[in-house]
Amino acid sequence: MVRVAIIGCGIIGASIAFELSQFPELKVTVFDKQPPAQGSTGAALGVLMGVISHKTKGRNWQLRETSLQRYETLIPELEAVTGRKIPFNKQGILMLCSEGEDLSKWEKLIATRESQGWQLELWDRERVRDLCPHLSLNDQIIAAIYSPEDRQVDPTALTLALVDAAKINGVNFEFGVEVQDLMGGQDAHPTTNSPSCGTGILPVAENFDWLILAAGLGSSALTASLNQLIDIRPVLGQALHLRSANSVGNPDFRPVITCDDVHIVPLENQEFWVGATVEFSENGGEIQANADMLAQVMAKARSLCPALAEAEIIRKWSGLRPRPEGRPAPIIEMLPGNDRVLIASGHYRNGVLLAPATARSIREMILQ
Ligand SMILES: Cc1cc2nc3c(=O)[nH]c(=O)nc-3n(C[C@H](O)[C@H](O)[C@H](O)COP(=O)(O)OP(=O)(O)OC[C@H]3O[C@@H](n4cnc5c(N)ncnc54)[C@H](O)[C@@H]3O)c2cc1C
Repeated sequence: MVRVAIIGCGIIGASIAFELSQFPELKVTVFDKQPPAQGSTGAALGVLMGVISHKTKGRNWQLRETSLQRYETLIPELEAVTGRKIPFNKQGILMLCSEGEDLSKWEKLIATRESQGWQLELWDRERVRDLCPHLSLNDQIIAAIYSPEDRQVDPTALTLALVDAAKINGVNFEFGVEVQDLMGGQDAHPTTNSPSCGTGILPVAENFDWLILAAGLGSSALTASLNQLIDIRPVLGQALHLRSANSVGNPDFRPVITCDDVHIVPLENQEFWVGATVEFSENGGEIQANADMLAQVMAKARSLCPALAEAEIIRKWSGLRPRPEGRPAPIIEMLPGNDRVLIASGHYRNGVLLAPATARSIREMILQ
């Protein structure tokens, strides 16, 4: 029996737990200091920008393609096993292109995607107007890109379903346990080796054959405790949940609308998520949510979809995206100098998109 500890139960840790749970030779325990999906995952909009992204080759495209393909089977599989409903929008993403946008770049991407077996379409303004009468196409909107095979999923519902499905397959979850000292040195918990002691400090290394660090922003401190700092820093994002009293848009065609980095995500019952800001720390200190930046996101959403001006704001929130410092996201690799510690963190703006592919990569590293 191979004993695996996963630290962190956001979308990444939960996806890895479910993937590994399908191999009976692995005995998996997941630790999180909080209940599942409370970190970055709980703030995410769940927009899966794969085909419409400009990544066309190498690891970046492979991870996206693997995830998009896996999502098509993963969602129905989890719903069947857990009985949970996972909101999954299969109507694609419609990106409005503003004046100054180089449409020839999109034409090239459309051709590349066609050669890769994926669909992407360039729409003129009339087509957008016909199918999305609720959008206001001012003169600055010159065209749109429609990506029918991209998706949007509710990140919290998905994480909870992954946890339930992994539990059914025998994974042990220890919530309320903060892991601090991976090596269980002198300063670690003094009296017990039990991984379920539930106290502040937990020496897990001696109890497991593999450690998987999926702790998002918490992964930096964990790697530091192994003398291998992987620097992951926060980038704040704010978003809003709106409810409209009236029907907005075409009930038969409700893709995610995106323009200049602002997403309008349709939910059930005339509700929408709108977001998100991208806010960096100014001199390395804590990031304070900037109300003006959220107002700009809302103003952009209203200019695209005027009916949202009448909608009630039900909730505002913010979250911290885990961004690797000085290297590309995400980090999925063996921790240098530690041949049984794997890191799966730093997914920055695409953790929900990349979760299934990350889980597969980790499984392949463990079960070579
Ligand atoms: C506003 C916003 C919008 C976003 N929209 C999208 C989107 O549309 N599409 C997309 O793909 N991505 C999106 N993202 C990014 C996405 O949310 C992240 O990339 C993803 O959630 C990262 O998942 P994670 O599991 O690595 O981290 P987290 O979800 O942060 O999970 C890490 C977990 O580790 C636990 N932990 C940390 N340290 C310890 C420790 N020492 N001991 C025990 N437990 C620990 C934490 O409690 C937490 O539960 C968005 C993010 C934000 C903030």
